[in-house]
Amino acid sequence: NTEADFELIGRPEVLPLYRPRLKFSHKGTFGHSLIVGGSYGKIGAVQLASNACLTVGSGMVTAFIPKCGYDALQTAVPEVMVLTGSRDKYISGIEVPFQPTVVGIGVGIGQDDDTVSAFCAFLKKNKSPMVIDADGLNILSQNTEMLKDVPEMSVLTPHPKELERLIGYWDSDFEKLEKAKAFALKHNLVIVIKGAHTITVYNGKGYVNTTGNPGMATAGSGDVLTGIITGLMAQGYAPVEAAIFGVYLHGLAGDMGASAKGYEALKASVLVEHIGNAYAELL
Ligand code: AMP
Ligand code: MG
Repeated sequence: NTEADFELIGRPEVLPLYRPRLKFSHKGTFGHSLIVGGSYGKIGAVQLASNACLTVGSGMVTAFIPKCGYDALQTAVPEVMVLTGSRDKYISGIEVPFQPTVVGIGVGIGQDDDTVSAFCAFLKKNKSPMVIDADGLNILSQNTEMLKDVPEMSVLTPHPKELERLIGYWDSDFEKLEKAKAFALKHNLVIVIKGAHTITVYNGKGYVNTTGNPGMATAGSGDVLTGIITGLMAQGYAPVEAAIFGVYLHGLAGDMGASAKGYEALKASVLVEHIGNAYAELL
């Protein structure tokens, strides 16, 4: 590794990425995101991701979930539109009557056989850029032939276990990064390696985030990040920019949330509440 392979991402680096809203914009300017995820008992993951997606500024958000989550999601986030598949507890055939600007898929989705087939079939017909997280990644790891249908420059957001399933075991942090870089190059993907120092890997380079804190080690934290990156792509940020900027905003919202609540009491929903404050800190 040479120094040029890595860049630390702090406030000065994200400022030029941020594009504040212009006066004559309308909701169509900011894209229509599709969040696909959820299963019985894990509808909250979709609630967090779709709420984060909307809060980061996606013009519209539609969630595709199994039937059992319909009332809960419509009640929890009335601004989000909801589509359901034919099955009650798991996602089956993913039919969407519009072309989304971007698709965020995988949060709370589980690994039921019908869900795996539905994801596989969806990848073949989908024409939108993607953010893939959680069991969406685990399904890819177990069905590697699906990788060829993942759109180029899609963003993958694995935590360490999900990354290991995807790229195999590593002996050192150095080897982990080299393997992730090689995987990202081979499949032309952006990989967000989540952790205390999240590193976004793309095109042979690593972007090391500087925001965030251990209060963010809490259920649903990653689902919020998926929503944030998806919502940034909906607004026209390039995938690698959306990943770098999204990870930074997510961490900054976490730092502000921790100042307000303390580390222990920081919940994923608090991250969503602080997205607006995180943006404001960049003005
Ligand atoms: P997940 O495991 O998918 O819920 O994702 C956890 C999220 O919280 C990722 O965005 C991590 O980077 C973040 N996170 C977890 N632990 C820490 C930590 N100790 N410091 C900073 N961020 C963290
Ligand atoms: Mg996760």
